[in-house]
Amino acid sequence: MKKSLIVQKFGGTSMGSIETIHKVAEHIIRAKNGGSRVVVVVSAMSGETNRLMGLAQQVDCVPNARELDVLLSAGEQVSMALLAMTLSKLGHTARSLTGGQANIITDGQHNDATIKHIDTTKIEQLLDDEHIVIVAGFQGINENGDITTLGRGGSDTSAVALAGALKADECQIFTDVDGVYSCDPRVVKSAQRLDVVDFPSMEEMARKGAKVLHLPSVQTAWEKQVPLRVLSTFDLNQGSLIKGEECQQAVCGVAIQRGLTLVSVNPESVETIRKHCMMLGVSVWDVVNGASLLIKEDCLAKLQQVCEDKLLSYQCVSLLTIVGTAAERLSDHTAQLLALQDIDVVHVSMAKQSMSLVMLPDCIDKAANILHDAYITTAEAMDFHPKKAFLG
Ligand code: ADP
Ligand code: ASP
Ligand code: MG
Repeated sequence: MKKSLIVQKFGGTSMGSIETIHKVAEHIIRAKNGGSRVVVVVSAMSGETNRLMGLAQQVDCVPNARELDVLLSAGEQVSMALLAMTLSKLGHTARSLTGGQANIITDGQHNDATIKHIDTTKIEQLLDDEHIVIVAGFQGINENGDITTLGRGGSDTSAVALAGALKADECQIFTDVDGVYSCDPRVVKSAQRLDVVDFPSMEEMARKGAKVLHLPSVQTAWEKQVPLRVLSTFDLNQGSLIKGEECQQAVCGVAIQRGLTLVSVNPESVETIRKHCMMLGVSVWDVVNGASLLIKEDCLAKLQQVCEDKLLSYQCVSLLTIVGTAAERLSDHTAQLLALQDIDVVHVSMAKQSMSLVMLPDCIDKAANILHDAYITTAEAMDFHPKKAFLG
């Protein structure tokens, strides 16, 4: 009988020290001893990518994109070698590969590349030779052979793409929480772990800031039907399975995105600036009142470099998003709940099965707790029916 194949990905906290790398090795060995072939994807040690980024920014506030990829990809290379050494010391044959060595081919968009193709021949040969294969997450090479990176948090996407290409039985994302929660459990203590999360809800949560999974990882898993599970490196349980094509819950989650900037411009320059953003690879999250663009704070320097004269003022903001089938109908009730606590909402926007609220960064945690309590914690206890409760 053919052995099962599992892709296991370990994030920054899991790879954060030699002690935690031993914990990682235990998970891998457990899967291998259980009869599976194992491909492992690793992130840089926690804090390392930020440290490297900080060094680059000391040289240039908008570092050369190609060289930034060369620099940032080094973080994952450190992790993969340390893990291979650890496994080897424990008596297991392991081989580490960079994204390029693993033949992960991306487009040419430095710092935010998309995986186009993976030639799995080499990985399969190593697996046939009974090796544990360790691949550096977050990176690939473009068609010129230059190193590219997949955007912050991109190791999840490396893992899912590899699992899809190898037709793995499961892709397991090991992290520092024991699954996907109804909100970031570090912000909302009463957040609930979700045993199963459907793809549309997970996609919307990831798009709006639930960084437990990198957005393209969810989209790739959905498209390629990769069985995807999120679980903890630090305790043993089943975690959360991402499965199902339809969002069925009235409100299933609340997502938080920090580090955004509202850039106000003359209404007549909006289209020109949008074009600049497109050329620079800067995503515009929203346009507020036809005169302000919502972008990530860390993209601002790029934009300033090309059109500072057109940018009038800046405001740091955060985004809170309610995800679920009832989300679009909750705007009035949400505004009332927040107003009662003196929380101002700068802007509200609707998307399919979600509602996003732009607000000042210092009220986001309080707002997340209020809305989570109203729509998830107490709603469940009351057998929540949003139509009855809020539509009169
Ligand atoms: P890793 O380094 O393992 O990739 P990340 O920091 O990228 O880990 O993602 C895990 C973190 O995501 C958690 O520590 C948690 O604070 C945050 N998070 C945000 N939203 C959620 C959510 N809905 N469920 C679980 N974790 C979440
Ligand atoms: N090391 C990269 C980052 O910090 C990629 C990842 O961890 O997924 O964003
Ligand atoms: Mg991550």
